[in-house]
Amino acid sequence: MISTRSLFVIFGVGLALTLALTIFPFGLPIWFTVSALTLFIGLIAGLIIGKHIRRAVRNDTVATQSDAASSKASKIDFSPLLLDATLNEMREGLLVIDHEMRVIASNRTAHDLFSNVDDSINSRRLTELTRNPAIYDAFLDGVRGTERAGVKVETHGRERRVFDLRVVPFRAANGREAHGAVGVFFDVTRLERLEIVRQEFLSNVSHELRTPLTSIIALAETLEAGALDDREHNRRFLSIIQKNAARMHRLIDDILELSAIEAGNVQVRPEIIALRPLVEDVVGSLSAAAAARTVMVQNLVTREAEILADPHRLVQMLTNLIDNAIKFNRDGGTVSISYGGNSRDQIQVEDTGEGIPSHHLDRLFERFYRVDRARSRELGGTGLGLAIVKHLAKAHGGEVTVESRYGEGTRFTIELPRRSSDGSN
Ligand code: ADP
Repeated sequence: MISTRSLFVIFGVGLALTLALTIFPFGLPIWFTVSALTLFIGLIAGLIIGKHIRRAVRNDTVATQSDAASSKASKIDFSPLLLDATLNEMREGLLVIDHEMRVIASNRTAHDLFSNVDDSINSRRLTELTRNPAIYDAFLDGVRGTERAGVKVETHGRERRVFDLRVVPFRAANGREAHGAVGVFFDVTRLERLEIVRQEFLSNVSHELRTPLTSIIALAETLEAGALDDREHNRRFLSIIQKNAARMHRLIDDILELSAIEAGNVQVRPEIIALRPLVEDVVGSLSAAAAARTVMVQNLVTREAEILADPHRLVQMLTNLIDNAIKFNRDGGTVSISYGGNSRDQIQVEDTGEGIPSHHLDRLFERFYRVDRARSRELGGTGLGLAIVKHLAKAHGGEVTVESRYGEGTRFTIELPRRSSDGSN
């Protein structure tokens, strides 16, 4: 490769030669001398520029290589931190032990599992951390080379938690003998709770359906066995069959409705509603039931009261509450519906009925929860009315609450977000 200095020497010699030719042309024509000079300068300039470009490219390549090298270096620097952060942010607990059952690595969740240890759990023996035989046996199997999955582990710290533990052997590079074991604790507390709720729901539904169905089957058999011709009883039997069938129908409707609301398949379309006429309609639809119990229902909502809610869903909530207030009232009692509130709109349904003992109030909005199961059935209830009200209020961004004095009466309050002055909520 020609150096820059050699290029300048050649350029200098060439220039001197050309000047000499110009001054002493030796019989050569002037155009020849000028052309030779231009060609020569072009050649030298090309060589110099080319050399600079090559150098720039080389510098660039070197810079790129050094960039790559430095980013590689930064990756290498950060990877332990990254690994540490990832492991510690995992919801799952991770515990690695060596062949002596001593902890060699762990993450924060694993540390929280062993609430009896305040400082680091690393380099402690597993027996120091827990006396739970399920955990110990699973890790022991792992150290001996056997994988264990689906080990149920319960902890009873601040709250009861349930884990699904999976332990795999931690093998040497040759992949044969185990050096220790890696255990991952999956938190299944919420899943387990959901599973219990699902099972309870299924068993409640079956139970609720079985009772009227058993009655229908028994009465149909009695009619078939001869009671059909018993003029005194056959109509009564038929009316009981009808009542039970209607109850099953209501129950299925309520279950489907509740499932749809809980699954978020029910759209709530709030609009500004004049509350008084809406309450009037609900009271009208329940007037026969009120008259049968000689219960007086008063609409105390003021004419100006406006509320932001889905009218169909609000009717559903008020029907359930006013129907209960009539059902669980005394003969000659009163039900009042009023409107109030400050930061949120409040609709209150108050009765002078039998009231609810205070220890039932916490669970009152649960599905199928009743104070008196037999009484509720006798009155045609499904035990789902209040659960539906709770979910509908929630779907509006509000809530429903209850206050009651046993023997004096009960007040349910639906609270909904208040509309702002521009009409939005
Ligand atoms: P049900 O179909 O039994 O009425 P709900 O979910 O509507 O089911 O109500 C659950 C239970 O709450 C009722 O069975 C009853 O024991 C109690 N309850 C609801 N409303 C009242 C009320 N206004 N007064 C007294 N008890 C009530």
